[in-house]
Amino acid sequence: SNVSHELKTPITSIKVLADSLNLQEDVPIELYKEFMQDIVNEIDRESKIIDDLLSLVRMDKPSGAMNISSVNLNELMEIVLKRLKPIAQKKNIELLFESFRPVVAEIDEVKFTQVVSNLVENAIKYNNLDGWVHVALNADYQYFYVRVEDSGIGIPKENQDMVFERFYRVDKARSRETGGNGLGLAITRNAILLHRGSIKVHSIEQQGTTFAVRIPLMYSE
Ligand code: ADP
Repeated sequence: SNVSHELKTPITSIKVLADSLNLQEDVPIELYKEFMQDIVNEIDRESKIIDDLLSLVRMDKPSGAMNISSVNLNELMEIVLKRLKPIAQKKNIELLFESFRPVVAEIDEVKFTQVVSNLVENAIKYNNLDGWVHVALNADYQYFYVRVEDSGIGIPKENQDMVFERFYRVDKARSRETGGNGLGLAITRNAILLHRGSIKVHSIEQQGTTFAVRIPLMYSE
């Protein structure tokens, strides 16, 4: 039921915007432009929800959907973080990567990239101006570990178990403003579970949040 609600929200807004233009006579061109931009934003939002839902549906299939290869994680994470640097810079957030050793693991590169991107994007989105995001990569003989730590707004204790649920957002308005739809962490957790891994959250309100991921170095079905 929340899927249909979430899918309908942008459509409802588009309808209201278009109707109100159609019902008015002599609409000034500026108003047309403003409403059209709002319509475009709602369409973008709808597309993102559909893409994310499709990506969840694909992951629900048995692990045949996994595309496993041996990947240098230090390199992969450097590349992902480099791509996110400009987003961090907009809020003057320091984005640091610390890797404790060279790590090569059998993973699905696309899905794992999505995991790191989602966690770091959130760490930036739910952060304060001039904050920091620290990402760490480590491994032992059996697992590798990724930690994404931020100096952001934190997650209230009572909401921490819920954040991995589809469409769940602690603050709908804030999530919406930053283009969120509440599917990112559901996708992240599914991708990690497909790797037989785990994800844990630790957070203190107004201080920050840490997501800790653990994934086996060797893939097993
Ligand atoms: P969204 O698209 O809303 O970011 P996610 O599934 O990625 O959806 O996250 C769900 C919710 O968890 C977010 O709306 C936010 O309330 C909370 N959240 C996720 N990451 C963080 C973080 N690093 N700091 C604070 N809150 C977070």
